[in-house]
Amino acid sequence: MSKIDERCTSAYEESRLAELAGYEILDTPKEAAFDEIAEVASIICEAPIALINFVDRDRQWFKAIKGLSIRETPLDISICAHAILQSGLFIIPDTTLDERFSSNPLVIGDPHLRFYAGALLENEAGYPLGTLCVLDYQPRELTDKQRFALQALANQVMAHMELMLSYRYQKQLILELEATREEMVQLAATDMLTGLLNRRAFEQRLQETLALIKRGAPSAALVMVDLDHFKRINDVFGHPAGDDVLKCFADLCVSIFREADVMARWGGEEFMLLMPNTSVKEAQQAAERLLDSLTSTSMAAEADTPIYVTASIGICPLNANSQLEERLHTVDGLLYQAKRQGRNGIVIEGISPIEKR
Ligand code: GH3
Ligand code: MG
Ligand code: MG
Repeated sequence: MSKIDERCTSAYEESRLAELAGYEILDTPKEAAFDEIAEVASIICEAPIALINFVDRDRQWFKAIKGLSIRETPLDISICAHAILQSGLFIIPDTTLDERFSSNPLVIGDPHLRFYAGALLENEAGYPLGTLCVLDYQPRELTDKQRFALQALANQVMAHMELMLSYRYQKQLILELEATREEMVQLAATDMLTGLLNRRAFEQRLQETLALIKRGAPSAALVMVDLDHFKRINDVFGHPAGDDVLKCFADLCVSIFREADVMARWGGEEFMLLMPNTSVKEAQQAAERLLDSLTSTSMAAEADTPIYVTASIGICPLNANSQLEERLHTVDGLLYQAKRQGRNGIVIEGISPIEKR
């Protein structure tokens, strides 16, 4: 099959159009880099009209145009559509003498085009996407130097487009990398079972919040929650059911506490809650809401065998004088006081123990 025959097949044309679409240049605004190349082609070739055009499915579209005030024409009257079937330069010294163009409306009518010279815009994969062409109102020729310059300028158009493409591709890659990095950061901070923050991420949030409090932000409440007799859940229902309970419990907490509250799985069946801008009294109310919900909310994923749990809770304030290690130690001690007092209860620093529920 000759090159022209090959380029006339619909499969080839579809591939060519896909390549062209990949540059995302069709219907984009004018750009100085392309306008200047068309201008230089017009100057060097001493032609009143110069175009950078791309041959789309049913039109030719001009990225840059000097000497005419149109931006596209239908393909059936396009001279460039013929040019892209050839290799190298396509020159028609006199359109009225060429049977392919002598009845073309652009030749017999306005703007009465008589001379055409087009250099292929061929991409790296070898597909002809369009042409850089010069036109004149009278029959003529190009000198060897003009021919060379026209093809060299066409190569520059293509080089510019390849650069723009790889720039876009790199930008896309950077965006994807950034998204993956954010995903990794999030994963590294997440407890896989419950979707809550993990211990490490929570400690970091705690440090940040304490630093803000020391600089004048309102004090916060630190709440530690441990499920009571959780080992029994595993023993009775199995470890997977135990996992489900932990997930359900985390979901319940998320639904009960405010969005600004930071909830984490501290380890096993222990959870931590940091409540910014919250007094221990307010934290106590929230903790009571949680214990109340637990009495009526099954923590089993399967509806037919409900599982109810209780929890023990310690609460202490986090203020400008607080030391992180000491606060963590304290809230742990308060929690175990709640355990010793019979579980399913809340112990708050500085407030006499609350009656067993
Ligand atoms: P207490 O009321 O004193 O807190 O009793 P407990 O049984 O809850 O506490 P204990 O520390 O004796 O047992 C905790 C249990 O939690 C033991 C461990 O197997 C279970 N556990 C820890 N992590 C997981 C987990 O990810 N999934 C499941 N299913 N069980 C877990
Ligand atoms: Mg426990
Ligand atoms: Mg525990």
